[in-house]
Amino acid sequence: MTRTHSIKTGERRGLMFVLSSPSGAGKSTLSRMLIEKTPGMRMSVSVTTRAKRPGEVDGKHYHFIGKEEFDAMVKNRELLEHAAVFDHHYGTPRKPVEDALAAGEDVLFDIDWQGTQQLREKARDDVVSVFILPPSAEDLEQRLHTRAQDSESVIRGRMSRATHELSHWAEYDYVVVNSDLGTAFGEVETILRAERLKRERQTGLSAFVRALQDQLQR
Ligand code: ADP
Ligand code: 5GP
Repeated sequence: MTRTHSIKTGERRGLMFVLSSPSGAGKSTLSRMLIEKTPGMRMSVSVTTRAKRPGEVDGKHYHFIGKEEFDAMVKNRELLEHAAVFDHHYGTPRKPVEDALAAGEDVLFDIDWQGTQQLREKARDDVVSVFILPPSAEDLEQRLHTRAQDSESVIRGRMSRATHELSHWAEYDYVVVNSDLGTAFGEVETILRAERLKRERQTGLSAFVRALQDQLQR
């Protein structure tokens, strides 16, 4: 049989790929790398009522909005999930996610455990969740300092909240320890590759196998 008779496997159902971690463990860094290096994946840009940090760009890192606008989005069911984190409100706009999934693209979410629970309740089969752990408390604190975006008191708040966030690790499908960044990225990439190959996500498989059987019977 020649290669001209090869059959296309067809369409794939998009998945919702969630990265969560205590603040400072490295999920934004890993998300950025994943978006840069992975075709077919879009980042979900959340809305937040918190203030913009130095270096952050409105519309890229977040959509920075006021509390009134946030409340209106909740009321109009424009958010797929939403939660309060560090006294601020965060949420995932519904439409861009639905558009991406309908176009067969994967969507990457950098959201906390509360948002992950809500997504799982709404779309269990489409959600793949990964919890990122820091190698030690010392490393976590060091990273919060090197990021140089927060005041000392905000960093202390994030450290004390980390214990609570960590307690949700077992709700996730996968856990990656971000010690060496390259290794952690390789692990996250491997998870994504394997999940994309799951039989139920390869929606063109039945047609592919039927065509293969036809070829074999000829
Ligand atoms: P998060 O999004 O989880 O709050 P970030 O991705 O902003 O965390 O990472 C916090 C800081 O730690 C950043 O300065 C980042 O460059 C650094 N960082 C991330 N991963 C590693 C790693 N494996 N080793 C050392 N520094 C890291
Ligand atoms: P930061 O203020 O450091 O950007 O984010 C604080 C926390 O809020 C992080 O754990 C981040 O994952 C989470 N977060 C960001 N956007 C959303 C969102 O849309 N929904 C939820 N539930 N959490 C979010």
